[in-house]
Amino acid sequence: MICPRCDSDTVDLMVQSPVGNVWEVYSCNTCNFSWRSTESEDITDPVKYDKRFKIKPEEIPSLEIIPPIPNLKK
Ligand SMILES: [Zn+2]
Repeated sequence: MICPRCDSDTVDLMVQSPVGNVWEVYSCNTCNFSWRSTESEDITDPVKYDKRFKIKPEEIPSLEIIPPIPNLKK
């Protein structure tokens, strides 16, 4: 499985529905995105995922922390 947000193949099955086997939740080990199998294709399909919200794995280490963490008080 490919992560819809970062296109990595580092996806794990996080949990399945406790009754009826009707949904699964997946989690990406690269960008920490998680999604439920029953969400719409614009969330679950890497091709249809909004390109404005895509993440490049190589850029993750340099992403800003939002909100910024202030300096410790002295
Ligand atoms: Zn990802």
